[in-house]
Amino acid sequence: MNTLEIVQIGCPVLRTKAKALSKEQILSPSIQSLIQEMKDTMHAAPGVGLAAPQIGRSLQLAVIEDKPDYLQSVPATILKERDRKPVEFHVIINPRLTIESEVKADFYEGCLSIHGFLGKVNRALSVKVECLNEKAEPVTIHAQGWYARILQHEIDHLHGILCIDRMNIQSLTTLENYQRYHL
Ligand code: ZN
Repeated sequence: MNTLEIVQIGCPVLRTKAKALSKEQILSPSIQSLIQEMKDTMHAAPGVGLAAPQIGRSLQLAVIEDKPDYLQSVPATILKERDRKPVEFHVIINPRLTIESEVKADFYEGCLSIHGFLGKVNRALSVKVECLNEKAEPVTIHAQGWYARILQHEIDHLHGILCIDRMNIQSLTTLENYQRYHL
């Protein structure tokens, strides 16, 4: 297992619009091993998504997985209100996001590149994502609930946008105070 350093807010790569990948690049050994390293890094963090700019690579590539194990430690009421269900590991490359529902929800959200803080972010409950997978095949994803939130968060990273840009900044809290006062 080879994990990569996750860069933190203030690192310019997080504010740079990432470059699209060609099919040839996606299938190259260097990108295939990068995908594996990003998967390992996301698991080690642990996190439910990781975008390439977060490991210092300005590429339109992100990995996503919400493991059943992660959900076991979350109270059932929170899983229900957030509409959070397991999501299998997958890769999104050169994604195009379409908001499919005008209905939005406000929930606390964190970022591996803003370590130790969370805040409320208003996000659409339903999205469509058209992208390529790790085999450079076109894929269309329809996502709801927490999965839709993860996709919006990761795709924002590919455009140099961080969750604090969309946050109700008065809700910003340390992880410790989130658990103490807001959970
Ligand atoms: Zn993030």
